[in-house]
Amino acid sequence: MKIDLHVHVRKVSNCAKETPEAMAKQALEKGLDGIVILDHNYQVSREECDQIEKAVPGIRVFGGIELGVFDEHVVIIPTETIDFAPEYRRYMDDVKFLKDWVDRTGSLAILAHPYRYHTSITFDMNIFTPHAVEVAGRHVRKSDRMQIRELAKKYDMGMVSVSDAHKTRQLGGYCVNTYYDIDNEKELISCVKRGNYSLMESRLESINL
Ligand SMILES: [Zn+2]
Ligand SMILES: [Zn+2]
Repeated sequence: MKIDLHVHVRKVSNCAKETPEAMAKQALEKGLDGIVILDHNYQVSREECDQIEKAVPGIRVFGGIELGVFDEHVVIIPTETIDFAPEYRRYMDDVKFLKDWVDRTGSLAILAHPYRYHTSITFDMNIFTPHAVEVAGRHVRKSDRMQIRELAKKYDMGMVSVSDAHKTRQLGGYCVNTYYDIDNEKELISCVKRGNYSLMESRLESINL
């Protein structure tokens, strides 16, 4: 299944918002089988995903959240409702706490667009190591890919390709192609953790790193 693990639905800022249904419909038209929808500091619930799946038959929709962790962004696909304080979703400065939460709940953590804002990672990766890192996407510079590969190797992280789309027209460029069908968040989490996917890039052709 071709799944885009990082698609925004605007929940926090409401300006010129395109509906989640429009995003799902466009994803389907671009050849994707599934999307993870999320927003900054906002966790999309399973109920919201169910509504979208009902409105747009043919696409699987999974829920996530994009957290601010020091000066990085980390995409989380949680197994349960995130219970920590709202200010922690905006700016998490206790990565040991985050690591313990992710481990305890069995959630998935993906380091988003590394080196976008700084030349090094701004939290201690020895304390909290995300399961995967974005190596291709709208917000990942091609010139950073080599450095990201080295980071992934050093910390034994998987690499994913995501659109990070905020608008429908930004969809379809990037995704992962899972080796088997994914039915729910838990299966998706396990699939990414095990690295059971290949990377896809523009026009859904395989990415050549
Ligand atoms: Zn981000
Ligand atoms: Zn994002």
